[in-house]
Amino acid sequence: MPRIYIETFGCQMNEADSQYVVERALASGYAIAVAPEEANVVVLNTCTVRQNAQQRAYGRMNHFKALKDANPSVRLVVMGCLAEQDRDRMRGIARHVDAIFGTKELVQLGDQLAAWQPSLDERSDSAPESDARDSMLGFALGGTPDAVGGPFSQLRAFVTVQRGCSYYCTFCIVPHVRGRFDHRPAAAILDETRNRLAQGAREIMLVGQTVNAWKDPATGDDFGDLCTTASRLEGLERLTFISPHPKDFTEKIVADLACVPQLNPRIHLPLQSASDRLLRRMNRKYTLGQFREKVELIRRHLPDAAITTDLIVGFPGETDEDFETTLAYVRTGVFANAFTFVYSMRRGTPAARWEQVPQAVAAARFRRLLEAQNHVTRAYHASKVGTTVRVLIAGQSKKDPERLSGKTLDNVTVIAPKPPNYQADAYAQTPWLDVAIESAHVWGCMGTIVRRGARLSDTATPVARPVVNLLAS
Ligand code: SF4
Repeated sequence: MPRIYIETFGCQMNEADSQYVVERALASGYAIAVAPEEANVVVLNTCTVRQNAQQRAYGRMNHFKALKDANPSVRLVVMGCLAEQDRDRMRGIARHVDAIFGTKELVQLGDQLAAWQPSLDERSDSAPESDARDSMLGFALGGTPDAVGGPFSQLRAFVTVQRGCSYYCTFCIVPHVRGRFDHRPAAAILDETRNRLAQGAREIMLVGQTVNAWKDPATGDDFGDLCTTASRLEGLERLTFISPHPKDFTEKIVADLACVPQLNPRIHLPLQSASDRLLRRMNRKYTLGQFREKVELIRRHLPDAAITTDLIVGFPGETDEDFETTLAYVRTGVFANAFTFVYSMRRGTPAARWEQVPQAVAAARFRRLLEAQNHVTRAYHASKVGTTVRVLIAGQSKKDPERLSGKTLDNVTVIAPKPPNYQADAYAQTPWLDVAIESAHVWGCMGTIVRRGARLSDTATPVARPVVNLLAS
């Protein structure tokens, strides 16, 4: 059976697209490879939202040339936003790539995989000993080869509700590479959700560039209506969504969300900057005052929800005063966590033509903002120490194969040692873990697994605790 390996960079939209490609590949008779050197077809799903993501994708493309040199029958495919943006350039500088598919060509990519399948040889499970093997193949450069495949991959499923974005924030490349809003009909979204649940999904993540702007093209139903209907589907245990726009959280939508029993208590609310002057320059369509009103709205209807955000520092024209406004707002502790970035110039966007903030200034601001948010984030995580939290397994820890990684309902990463007698397949059937939290860090929490259960609503059963060797410790 031929094998396919997919490495994904970027956001959950890309993860959802990779999930689609995997399904088309499985339906065409492929198996999933867990390493690129085991695959007949290697797919790189690229991102162009920041310069370093773009550079890493090109770096990875170069690494994959070693595979092609060692075995010319291997097919290399590049998809995603960078493929859409740089298609012509890529054809010139990455001649070893067999096919390039843009963001609107997923169906064609699936068709191509089906067409290739009969001509591909079976490959062995083990990595070749060949000298031609590039040692850098072992490093994914920031992509996520583990996003698909493995016993836990079906537990959390992405369902795309919308493609593209029509908001044209002046820093953002998305509308240029993914096009304007294209809302998927509710019936198709719900059908896919039903299928995912039948395949074993416990948590459904609805994804879109501005997911809460979704409207059913036929009926005009809004995102609150969609979540309400999805919540009635048999087997749905958790529902979450990414990435909303603050402007599109109406009172009606938030009130609807508050009535969804399976809603994860975490709302992502991307602020970007707390300076009204910069928000205007960014074309974000809200002021800080309006953003605060959205925070209040969420607190009123979903009082236990953690609010997380995205922040950009060093946006063109950002003054010390603009930055201090953002820093002061972050220090109020409003965000349980934040994805903080130094502005990255994107060719073709308005902000790329404006005078840039010197790198050293942006870097210094970034460090101060990160330090302030880290302080808040660690305190949020510390509030879990001494409690037992319920976690959905994500997989084996990337840093330590003897540990498991999972996510709490409010999306905090939890790492815990594998219990004695751990077996991945058995844990995939009982993926809800109760973890006694022992320490807090900026990245998440560490603890010990004390119980496990098949369903979120089940009373979990105790697991054996690791034996502590006091003589050795
Ligand atoms: S809302 Fe702005 S940042 Fe988000 S995808 Fe649309 S243009 Fe980009």
